[in-house]
Amino acid sequence: MAASPDPAGTDAIAALAQSVITGERRALARAITLVESTRTDDRTRAERLIEALLPSTGGSIRLGISGAPGVGKSSFIEAFGLYLVRQGLKVAVLAVDPSSEISRGSILGDKTRMPELSRNPSAFIRPSPTSGALGGVARRTREAVHVVEAAGFDVVMVETVGVGQSETDVADLTDMFLLLLAPGGGDELQGLKKGIVELAHALIVNKADGDLKAAAERAAADYKGALGILGSQGDGRWRPEVLLCSAREEAGLAEIWQMIGRYRKTIGPAQLALRRADQAKRWMWREVEDGLLAAFKTDPAVNHRIAALEAEVARGTMSPAAAAGELLGIFRGGGKSQR
Ligand code: GDP
Repeated sequence: MAASPDPAGTDAIAALAQSVITGERRALARAITLVESTRTDDRTRAERLIEALLPSTGGSIRLGISGAPGVGKSSFIEAFGLYLVRQGLKVAVLAVDPSSEISRGSILGDKTRMPELSRNPSAFIRPSPTSGALGGVARRTREAVHVVEAAGFDVVMVETVGVGQSETDVADLTDMFLLLLAPGGGDELQGLKKGIVELAHALIVNKADGDLKAAAERAAADYKGALGILGSQGDGRWRPEVLLCSAREEAGLAEIWQMIGRYRKTIGPAQLALRRADQAKRWMWREVEDGLLAAFKTDPAVNHRIAALEAEVARGTMSPAAAAGELLGIFRGGGKSQR
């Protein structure tokens, strides 16, 4: 239909949204490619698409899954995803991968890491987007969550690797945050950033099998002790739990699913809606902040003065606050105070 006067326009987006909602695979992949795009014209179309999909979103449970490299995230997601598919559920896997920012290579959410799940017709795996600032990746993953939800996926797993800011981002776009650990004992928990453990609704000790089983059980007991000193989650209703599993032997998966069910029940629909509403509000503010910063940094008059002011601040001949004040003044003045 090359006759369309505006192929990038509203009709095309409405049609794409409709195809996503009816569960068309190709449309789903195209929609996610669109929300991941950093091109300015694509951004506008992506925003329209999300608007069109929004009424069809909200029906899934959104799980954040994190853990250090090697703990078994991909093995776990493969095993747990297949378990869920056998329960008749549709499973989507998305990734926020901070390392791909640097290496340009995607480590997480890779189809080759979850070979069986990726071939399953009830599953959809999307490797992480590989460009843009981490905040940008998180934003696009957030939109991708909406897209797969509109496409009728029941469980959305958002995977990230255990290194700082990406956890906070993932916790902020999911309903429940699961932290995977290896049977390393209490030392491992020490090594984790405390903030990450505090985000977790559950600690899952993987590799509880064979020679590692006893160590995994000891580690779980240690973690339970350590969690005792941490507070509760979700308005004080939920106390984080510690569970054992073996992705390799597909053991402990039903217990994890039951625990997720318990969490949903304990938190209740009102509290969950509140969590999502808070996330949506923070998302809006983050968009405002990102947009303002981008406008600021690309403002020609501001740009004209940045290097000089940075140099003055570095030399100590001007205070950072005064320099910032001057730049903001230039920006507010729409560049009037500058040539
Ligand atoms: P990721 O880096 O966190 O995604 O970890 P992978 O899933 O790639 O697993 C890292 C290594 O741990 C691989 O060699 C896996 O075979 C192994 N592994 C993963 N899950 C288990 C498990 O449940 N039991 C045992 N014994 N090994 C596992």
